[in-house]
Parts: sequence; structure tokens; C-alpha cells
Amino acid sequence: MDNKNYCQKHDQSHFVFKDDTTACLLCINETVEEKEKDETTIFYKILATIPKKEQRLLSKWAGSIYVLTGEWEPRIFLKEVVAKAYRLKKTVDEMLEQIVKEESVRLILSE
Ligand SMILES: [Zn+2]
Repeated sequence: MDNKNYCQKHDQSHFVFKDDTTACLLCINETVEEKEKDETTIFYKILATIPKKEQRLLSKWAGSIYVLTGEWEPRIFLKEVVAKAYRLKKTVDEMLEQIVKEESVRLILSE
């Protein structure tokens, strides 16, 4: 049995994203809920790290999602970081470290 695209914990297949990466949507939701209390800290820490140009990209991107979901920027950002972490088989902390290191949110904003 192919375990790679199957979540044992939730007993369901992974969702397949446009770029063929996969992740369990329930796992993503659970981790988002765990991290929600830190979402403001995470968001403003990243915002303070990246250059102005990246801040504008992030703000524009979050704005385009806000019109669909009505969620505020830190939540939108957290969800995407967590989803990308699962898709790339990294931890959320590793994702955040990479953003800080690269001074870029392109990794998060890319499909
Ligand atoms: Zn799962």
C-alpha cells in the first residue's frame, strides 16, 4: 500500500494540489488550530523580516484571499504556511526559518 499519499491518522487520502504535492486537509486544519494562538506573533515577525517589496506582495495576496474568506491576514498567512509545510514535508518552524533566511515569502505565495 502506498502510504505516502494516505493519512493513517485520519484514515483518508491526501488532497492533491495543482503541483502534484499532496497533504491531508484534516492534518492541516488541526495544526492551524494548534498554532492559531501564535498567528499574530508569527505574522508580524515575518512582516518585520521581509523587504518592503515582499510586504506589498504579501499584502496584495492576503487581500485577494480576504475578499473570498473574510479572514484576517495573520490567519490567512498561517493557513498557507501550514499547508505548504505539509506539502513540502517540512515543519512549520522550518518554513518560517526559510522565509527569514531568504527574506522572501515567495515560497508561501507560489501555487
Ligand atoms: Zn491527516
